[in-house]
Amino acid sequence: MKPMKCDILISGASIAGPTLAYWLSRYGFRAIVVERTPALRAGLGGHAVDLLGPAVDVAEWMGILPQVMAARTGTDVISIERPGRSPVVVDVGRAVTGIASRHVEIMRGELTSIMYEATRDDVEYVFGDSIRTLDDDGDRVAVTFEHGPARDVDLVVGADGLHSNVRRLTFGDESRFRHYLGGYLGVYTLPNYLGLDGRMVMHHSPGKFVAMYPVRQTGAARALFLFRRAEELHYDHRDIEQQKRLLRQAFAEDGWEAPRILAELDEAPDLYFDSISQIRMESWSRGRVTLVGDAGYCPAPAVGGGTAVAVLGAYVLAGELRAAGGDHTTAFPIYEQQLRRLVARTRALAPTMMKTLIPRSRRQVWATTQAMRVLPHLPATVQRGLSSFVRAPARALASVDMNRYGAAKAASEEPTAQ
Ligand SMILES: Cc1cc2nc3c(=O)[nH]c(=O)nc-3n(C[C@H](O)[C@H](O)[C@H](O)COP(=O)(O)OP(=O)(O)OC[C@H]3O[C@@H](n4cnc5c(N)ncnc54)[C@H](O)[C@@H]3O)c2cc1C
Repeated sequence: MKPMKCDILISGASIAGPTLAYWLSRYGFRAIVVERTPALRAGLGGHAVDLLGPAVDVAEWMGILPQVMAARTGTDVISIERPGRSPVVVDVGRAVTGIASRHVEIMRGELTSIMYEATRDDVEYVFGDSIRTLDDDGDRVAVTFEHGPARDVDLVVGADGLHSNVRRLTFGDESRFRHYLGGYLGVYTLPNYLGLDGRMVMHHSPGKFVAMYPVRQTGAARALFLFRRAEELHYDHRDIEQQKRLLRQAFAEDGWEAPRILAELDEAPDLYFDSISQIRMESWSRGRVTLVGDAGYCPAPAVGGGTAVAVLGAYVLAGELRAAGGDHTTAFPIYEQQLRRLVARTRALAPTMMKTLIPRSRRQVWATTQAMRVLPHLPATVQRGLSSFVRAPARALASVDMNRYGAAKAASEEPTAQ
């Protein structure tokens, strides 16, 4: 496709960034992606994420669905462990039937790698750098970097996650937009000492959740800890040992496999520890700068389904830029309008998911376990009607008008403007 005279700089090469870069270059824009890490955050570390419903369609239209399917985690069953009693076993496929017609679980790094491979020939990637300053003079954006030479670009998009750099530079400090939902998460790699195969085991107690799932490609496993805490913790984000201590303290009293899983924390090479927070902004565009994915509307890690939202957000943004011939004054407001319902609905979803995953009381633990036992066995339509746990995400995913962008035809069409 003939290139448009429009250079778009994207900060962040995880999910939203490469998805956006793919569609922009397919629509004839010149996309440049700058990523802070020295190399792609590829591979099988990180955590499992979900592509659901229309986000799977987007992957299919990108031509990457076969690779995505081949790389899926293969976690077919969730086993809710109840010491002294038999576990409640939930078939994952059946559990998400009411939420979306299609679902793929994949390690985030795997998805990033697949998206990178699909874009690397058409998109300029710069690793190991970060935007230092942005100066939008109305006509162009002058950008300086921590390391590389300065550039002038037409538009800048922050796809740099919950702690977005572009958001900070454009809208101000994260504290204005980050809303703490009352919990923390920790995730790390450990040996698959339980010999799990296609099965996630989890245990919840009032205010706590522990899970372990296998990463079939490596033979190792991942531990996921979630816990409630009314007040925010104060800790050094670079001090991993301190974060390990905080996690150990939070689960010091816990039974089931928690002590054994925590014992592996000493050797864990890759602990990720963060608050369960969401980003709330009235508008996520200013001048020639906008945000996509977690940077603009993170629904909360681990409890909000942010991956599907990031993919859909990137797809919609690219589609609106194409429809407006690169005119951001038209495209950005429509992008926000198109996404507003999805963002609002997923935002509302996170507290419900927290209630399900990290029940507050013994009674809630019991009620959640019973719901998980029954729900997957009901027909999808009944599921959607009965449970807010299922109904809310289904409504959220259905709120984007996917027909608007005509993805299937896009490859053969010329850009609409120069
Ligand atoms: C433990 C955990 C479990 C999760 N589980 C799920 C799940 O089960 N299902 C689900 O759908 N979602 C889940 N999520 C959420 C999901 O990972 C995110 O919603 C999704 O990755 C958002 O994609 P993104 O591209 O917007 O941002 P991110 O994936 O956060 O990527 C941001 C990118 O920007 C880069 N970056 C950061 N700062 C800079 C900078 N200054 N300059 C350049 N680049 C920068 C980062 O290195 C990264 O590559 C989970 C998240 C966590 C942490």
